[in-house]
Amino acid sequence: MNKENENGKPGQNVAGRFSVDLDKCIDCDLCRDIAPEFFARDDDGYSKIIKQPVSADELETCIEAMDSCPVSAIIDNGE
Ligand code: SF4
Repeated sequence: MNKENENGKPGQNVAGRFSVDLDKCIDCDLCRDIAPEFFARDDDGYSKIIKQPVSADELETCIEAMDSCPVSAIIDNGE
């Protein structure tokens, strides 16, 4: 977890493979519904990554959330 998240600043993704583009997120709640362990709503109404996937099952869950995002706001930066 990076320092920004420890400080609870809004819109800060935990560093790692996945991130949310705040310029695209429309606060539809879908990713948080599919993968609540990894996505949370910040104070400004955008999703952010609160945990990066580790296991294969977790990765699959995050990819499902990414593929479900209606505005392609979830970014997979690769390994
Ligand atoms: S699914 Fe996409 S648009 Fe909806 S809250 Fe998540 S990141 Fe935002």
